[in-house]
Amino acid sequence: NLAIFGEDSLRLNAYTKLLSAKDVAEQASVSDQRIKSGQAKSLLDGIPVTIKANIAVGRWWELPTACSAILQGNTEVNTTDDVYESDVSRILLKECGAVLIGITNMDEFGMGSLGTYNGSVPTYNPLPWMQRIGTLIGPNTNDLDRHFLDQIIDSTSCNPHRLKIDELQQLLDEVKYWTSSDMEVKDKSKSPLYSPGGSSSGAAVATAHGSSLLSIGTDTGGSLRLPAAWTSTVGFKPTYGSISRYGVVSYASSLDTVGFVTGSSECAEIAWACLRGTKESKQDWNSYISRDSTARLYHSYDTSPETDAEPTGTNENPLDGIRIGIPAAFSLHESPRLISSAWSRGASFLQSKGATLVSIPESKVSSQWVKLSCAAYYVLACAEASSNLSRYDGVRYGKNHDVKQDTISSNGDTESVFADMTTLEQHISATRATGFGDEVQRRVLAGTSVLSSDRFHTHYEAAATVRAKLSQSLEKTFRCSVAEEDSDGVDVILVPTALSFPVVIDSLKGSGLDSTTAFANDVMTIPMSLGGFPSVSVPIHGSIPNTEQHSGANDQVGLQLFGPRGSEELVLKAARTLE
Ligand code: GLN
Repeated sequence: NLAIFGEDSLRLNAYTKLLSAKDVAEQASVSDQRIKSGQAKSLLDGIPVTIKANIAVGRWWELPTACSAILQGNTEVNTTDDVYESDVSRILLKECGAVLIGITNMDEFGMGSLGTYNGSVPTYNPLPWMQRIGTLIGPNTNDLDRHFLDQIIDSTSCNPHRLKIDELQQLLDEVKYWTSSDMEVKDKSKSPLYSPGGSSSGAAVATAHGSSLLSIGTDTGGSLRLPAAWTSTVGFKPTYGSISRYGVVSYASSLDTVGFVTGSSECAEIAWACLRGTKESKQDWNSYISRDSTARLYHSYDTSPETDAEPTGTNENPLDGIRIGIPAAFSLHESPRLISSAWSRGASFLQSKGATLVSIPESKVSSQWVKLSCAAYYVLACAEASSNLSRYDGVRYGKNHDVKQDTISSNGDTESVFADMTTLEQHISATRATGFGDEVQRRVLAGTSVLSSDRFHTHYEAAATVRAKLSQSLEKTFRCSVAEEDSDGVDVILVPTALSFPVVIDSLKGSGLDSTTAFANDVMTIPMSLGGFPSVSVPIHGSIPNTEQHSGANDQVGLQLFGPRGSEELVLKAARTLE
């Protein structure tokens, strides 16, 4: 897999690091032995996976950089097992036996929606290339490639686009062609380069492109779901606190959620079952959930805390007994027709599979709250970020901007010292001014501002109120929180994932979208983040049959299903039916 796609994925800037073939082979052969002797650790044993650059992976590299200059070269040279490793990486690689192949690109500290805020290495979306392949005839298949492609298809049902082998071969040739040259050639090519969405841009591209079958990332306000919608993959954010955040670089702690991108909902169900673990399946439950107090809180609810809904359905009608809410509040006039029509078709399809559709009126969930949620999110996220990022001062954490002076101490040793306090302040300020990118600096400033005494009530508290109101109103629509006799309660809610299609990236000028336009684009994913609800984005075909209308870059639309906290299994089951 790596041999075929690894290098291309690098050119798409999906990875910040790829493991050496030796390191991958070493892990794979250990897995192989386990599998052959019937001792597979889990269904993820031997499966190629990636981890986002803001998550500590322990054994292989330096500490996570979150794609920020301030954390570059943040090394921990330690060859023993006692290295800083996130809980999710430990569970995925050690407990479940997955094979790590690389670290994926992202927007700096997870702040962004396009995969472009990471210095000069934006991630590119392979989907437009992949979609053109359908009309192209590839050259003769080379035997070696065919062998690998056969293996991929045999070894997994997780072929993201359900392509046949010939189509995969064409895809390979096409992507190789478009990615085989340096930036200059790409710029000259007629083909525009599109954003895959962010901030987990690399995670989505690695999956869409086929090099990874499971890409672990984080989602604070939509960072797994938007890229999934834009790359035609499945992006899953579970309940806040369901996967430990220990070892994850913090952005906005009350929202940061570890989740993943996969090629299909079925893969997402498998990954979720393995990552989450159960009290029964783990001997040492405490070490499994370990060092994140919010994860402990979640797990103390025991399994599936809030929802009992179980589809009673058959194969033809797998969603019998399930009530799916369609909230009027998410029907914003900004939504392109293609997306609204995909939403209606998705709903009808679920109905045809046995689900009961229930309209959620404006009186229950107000569109005003949905719209305001975006502003509230950016106030809260920036406030938390300004606090979280204050540790990067170049003294305790963060790249040391070189303003220390070497002096000779009384015993003749060379010491680095700060000349005086003014220099210390200058040092911190120089470290932060050069270490943080523009977007991060903007957010730290905005966050500091909304936490200041004259803005705290008008901004921070107002945002917290919007968060509470919207979350409560969504919560009250769920069947598990309404009275038995109230027949209007729903089990899951269906809404679009985004209001837009992938935007073109001009490699020199960035995306052309200003920050606030990019902020507004998150309005469909933010409500679930504010409420901590599990949410999955699934790709469905966007084109309207028999019309000329299409979206240009992408005729795939992401639809999102979300449910009450703890309802992951049901949400993923509904997603599988929809896909
Ligand atoms: N686009 C949102 C932001 O910039 C969400 C990012 C995320 O989920 N990490 O904050």
